[in-house]
Amino acid sequence: MLIVRYLPLTAHSGDIESLVDQQQHRRLTDRITSKANRTCHGCQQKINGPLHLHASWDYEGHVQMLRAVNPLCQLCHILCHPHLTATPGQSRAALDHLCAAHRLSPLQGISTMNRWKRMWGARNLVTFTVSDVRWLTQFVPKAKITQGNFTMGDLADWNALESTH
Ligand SMILES: [Zn+2]
Ligand SMILES: [Zn+2]
Repeated sequence: MLIVRYLPLTAHSGDIESLVDQQQHRRLTDRITSKANRTCHGCQQKINGPLHLHASWDYEGHVQMLRAVNPLCQLCHILCHPHLTATPGQSRAALDHLCAAHRLSPLQGISTMNRWKRMWGARNLVTFTVSDVRWLTQFVPKAKITQGNFTMGDLADWNALESTH
């Protein structure tokens, strides 16, 4: 089951692109996707097209800790980053994908997303001042890891989607 932890607006680090350069990102993509046998971590489907790397974080106190970097298909990755959805059509497709992959009714899909959003809302009250990215050092030399700040868009798209149900 795909469990989404939206990045808090107050996070210290963003997705994997903010932690490594392009060359390291390409290497990491090759290693992680082949290790996963080109299977999406969210829907468990084997994907022939491109897979996206997605960073999963745990949050404790003021520390965000990198737990894993997983390969996701495009729709599963859209579910993790609502601000990436360019059109309402993509939000709808992502919701349908979530429901199909996990055998949920549309209402169960919406309530699952609402649960993720509530958890996100609570985390936004905390400022994360440290990101622990030790997990990454099994793939990337420590000197190659950067930890920049980032910005994240809002969840307006999902709010619009919900109001159609
Ligand atoms: Zn997927
Ligand atoms: Zn991601």
